[in-house]
Amino acid sequence: MTSQELTAETVIRHQAAAVAVRGMCRDHEDHRLPVERGNEWRFRMHYGSVILELDDQDLKIRVSAADETDLSYMRMIVAGHVREYLDSAVAIRWSGDGGTSSIPVFFREITVMSSERISPHMQRLRFSARDIGRFASGGIHLRLLIPPRGRKPVWPTIGEDGLLVWPQGEDALTVRIYTIQAIDVEKGFVDIDFVLHPGLETPAAKFAQTAKPGDVIGMIGPGGEHVPDGGHLILLGDDTAIPAISRILRELPEGRTADVWIEVDGPGDILPLKAETASVRWLFRKGRPAGTTGLLTDAVRKIDPKTLPEDIFVWSGSEFTDFKEIRRIVRKEWGLAKDRQLIVAYWRRGAQGDDARSEAA
Ligand SMILES: Cc1cc2nc3c(=O)[nH]c(=O)nc-3n(C[C@H](O)[C@H](O)[C@H](O)COP(=O)(O)OP(=O)(O)OC[C@H]3O[C@@H](n4cnc5c(N)ncnc54)[C@H](O)[C@@H]3O)c2cc1C
Repeated sequence: MTSQELTAETVIRHQAAAVAVRGMCRDHEDHRLPVERGNEWRFRMHYGSVILELDDQDLKIRVSAADETDLSYMRMIVAGHVREYLDSAVAIRWSGDGGTSSIPVFFREITVMSSERISPHMQRLRFSARDIGRFASGGIHLRLLIPPRGRKPVWPTIGEDGLLVWPQGEDALTVRIYTIQAIDVEKGFVDIDFVLHPGLETPAAKFAQTAKPGDVIGMIGPGGEHVPDGGHLILLGDDTAIPAISRILRELPEGRTADVWIEVDGPGDILPLKAETASVRWLFRKGRPAGTTGLLTDAVRKIDPKTLPEDIFVWSGSEFTDFKEIRRIVRKEWGLAKDRQLIVAYWRRGAQGDDARSEAA
């Protein structure tokens, strides 16, 4: 822990407290191995660090993070694990920094300012929002909260246990993950590009298609892993990943190079990208349904891993089937280390929202 970090702690009394310790260490051994000292375990997670101290049935948990947003994420993630491993009713009460308001520190209400069709299948919405400085760094993704049409929105609150309390029934929100394509903190707006995809019920795409200035939705974030500095990049994605690829390329440090493959329906879907040091290939589906063509996986198969520089980093955002195959090739065939890749399912044919990713972790 550094001196600037914020911390919060909780003590949980439970006869099976050791089960929670074992579970949390196992869940996170993939990232950074937990360090064990007697009855104390320490490990780093994406948003901060955790110390677990077990004394018989008392489990003392201390989380630390760089700011209030990350501390709030840490409280939420750890509380989620505790409930998962012990029982859903176990009492959790955090003390320490942050956490005094029932409005989540990472929540903002956002209002549609404008809507523009930037290609045949992409709608760009500009949202105004207050106090969005924190959304300019620490992850490029958001969860958008879309309220039921015609109802006054009811937003989630945060409980003493650090977990979100979601509105239910007629007030239930639709939650979908998107990318902050652009942000201007001073002017107070974010741009989000929505793929207008087919499907019977497509709440987010439909919202984008019909949104009018003044419409209000919510956002929570920012989040997501970042692309580490240094090295040559391979970027792969379909339409849904264009906003992320666009930001990665715009934020590419000088001199850093990238090979990019993007699958879209046709030439009309090509969007301008900052690509001075990148080589971008657009692959066309030509009317075939997204997620069925294998164009991205074919592109990966054509790469000879022996020709890749040692400092390569592979980034991919795509439909689930492509995600699985790209990950298999990169991990199994190329043998690339886990910290040199970020390969993610952005959506799944036939599944809605986060269900698309339930097997994708
Ligand atoms: C980290 C991350 C960042 C993302 N960023 C963006 C972004 O910036 N812009 C963006 O448009 N999307 C983005 N996505 C993908 C987006 O979250 C999904 O496409 C989401 O399913 C759309 O929600 P929906 O309500 O429109 O459709 P859902 O209700 O989720 O799905 C309805 C039906 O549509 C299908 N479907 C969903 N997406 C597509 C698609 N792209 N093409 C064809 N069929 C589809 C589903 O399989 C389902 O059958 C991102 C996803 C992740 C995980």
